[in-house]
Amino acid sequence: MQLDNLYQEVILDHYKNPQNKSLAGDNDAQVHHVNPSCGDEVTLGVKLEGNRVISVNWEGVGCSISQASTSIMSDLLLGKTLEEAQQISENFLHLMQSKGAEEGDPLVLEDAVALAGVSKYPARIKCALLGWMAFKDASVQAHSKEEK
Ligand code: ZN
Repeated sequence: MQLDNLYQEVILDHYKNPQNKSLAGDNDAQVHHVNPSCGDEVTLGVKLEGNRVISVNWEGVGCSISQASTSIMSDLLLGKTLEEAQQISENFLHLMQSKGAEEGDPLVLEDAVALAGVSKYPARIKCALLGWMAFKDASVQAHSKEEK
């Protein structure tokens, strides 16, 4: 119970004080993703330098889960290489698909383990994944641009 309260605090803190929430004008790629089942929206931009994520910036509206998860993700993936970001994202996706059976590895997911409980509520998993899917989309676009 104590753990749940702590996790709720992490989520609320990110919701109230979102990280990297301000769209940059010079992104390598920018995407807009919507979660129609809840009405959450995220516009997310990514900037790369070679293989490294040097900026994750976003704007969004929606429920606390979607906005907090996007804030946590933007903090977590900033400064990582694309390979590292992909590994962390897959780890988070796995956690969201665990139906409450897993707690998540704080060494890999840091604050994102606070969202582990969401995996028990199938209707909310899309909220938690919205920002992560937007990042995946934007980073693939940014990367393919860089290779040309
Ligand atoms: Zn939502």
